[in-house]
Amino acid sequence: MVRRTVLSGARVVLPTGAVEDGQITVEGQRITAAGPMPGRDAARAHGSGTAAGESGAAAGESGTAGLDLSGHWIVPGFVDMHVHGGGGASFSAGTAEEALTVARTHRAHGTTTMVASTVTGDLDDLARQAGALSELVEQGELAGIHFEGPFISPHRCGAHQPSLLRDPDPADVRKLIDAARGTARMMTLAPELPGGLDSVRLLTDHGVVAAVGHTDSTYDATLEAIAAGATVATHLFNAMPSLLHRAPGPIAALLEDERVTVELINDGTHLHPAVLGLAFRRAGADRVAFITDAMGAAGMNDGRYPLGPMTVDVKDGVARISDGPTAGSIAGSTLTLDHAFQRAVTIDGLTVEQAVRALSATPSRVLGVDGRVGSLEPGKDADLVVLDEAFTLVGVMRRGTWLVEPPVR
Ligand SMILES: [Zn+2]
Repeated sequence: MVRRTVLSGARVVLPTGAVEDGQITVEGQRITAAGPMPGRDAARAHGSGTAAGESGAAAGESGTAGLDLSGHWIVPGFVDMHVHGGGGASFSAGTAEEALTVARTHRAHGTTTMVASTVTGDLDDLARQAGALSELVEQGELAGIHFEGPFISPHRCGAHQPSLLRDPDPADVRKLIDAARGTARMMTLAPELPGGLDSVRLLTDHGVVAAVGHTDSTYDATLEAIAAGATVATHLFNAMPSLLHRAPGPIAALLEDERVTVELINDGTHLHPAVLGLAFRRAGADRVAFITDAMGAAGMNDGRYPLGPMTVDVKDGVARISDGPTAGSIAGSTLTLDHAFQRAVTIDGLTVEQAVRALSATPSRVLGVDGRVGSLEPGKDADLVVLDEAFTLVGVMRRGTWLVEPPVR
């Protein structure tokens, strides 16, 4: 018998908007119904005064569990298209054990779908990592691989090891795509480097998203990259030239083009809330993906952590490179997406529906997994997050199984 769970009474955020007194039915790993609670809806429509929720959660019925989540929100599980680590582990270790620690850590914070983002490394080493991570993609643990570097600008390398950077030679790009055995979803590169535009075309031809980032590109050169097929801005504003009134640079080019989705790190450190708001209003929720860009210290205490071949010190939740030529650079974040969601609605002034799109629907579309995840609809994976009235995470379900059990009434 297929296990059936009925979640009732919460404000449920559907693709069409939020409904009060919503209900979601989960059977096995999938959502089989999502909408207003039938009993309550009918009672209102007919003015019959029937007790609310009578036909809702049918607790006690054989094989069915009912859960009253009144006073809570149910939103789609979050989708992170740019994350390097968490729980003291990192994807660039290239082992299943560390990768699963990262996945477990972020799932507990509501991220039910994530890619594995690598950092700049030796090409052979990256190919090895890709091989190991691709197995976890095939097993359904990860949604794909995002290569960040080594084809990035030495002027904007941030937390990437400068000595390992290289120009985007299409043959080298091809080597990484092949090593990922069909699981490469995205590559961040600097399109102004020699071979940059050819590499963007190569990626696009192979169904891999070309992302502009860690770049020193001009406005015009960025337009060329978009024309060649680039469709994502890697953490817009961070690791690229600033927006200047006579030199709009990559930021203006990426923000104004309807084909481009912009990643934003909503941790309060990488972007001032005013800048985040400005970008969000220009691009709209369907072109913004909130990401963590998290490194190993996400979900952990302050301290010293590895980031690829580099070392990072985390103080008050802010990660900076410990030593070498890039010492002091902000190195990824310690953000988790539940906090990004909470900031979006409590500090940035976004609606819950906008936050849901930027944290679930939009990134799932970019990654090409929106047929399975990214919204609460029948037929999709039962990936959902339960939040209390203060938008604090209290429950996480992934593929029909509670990873974090919400409070039971
Ligand atoms: Zn990153």
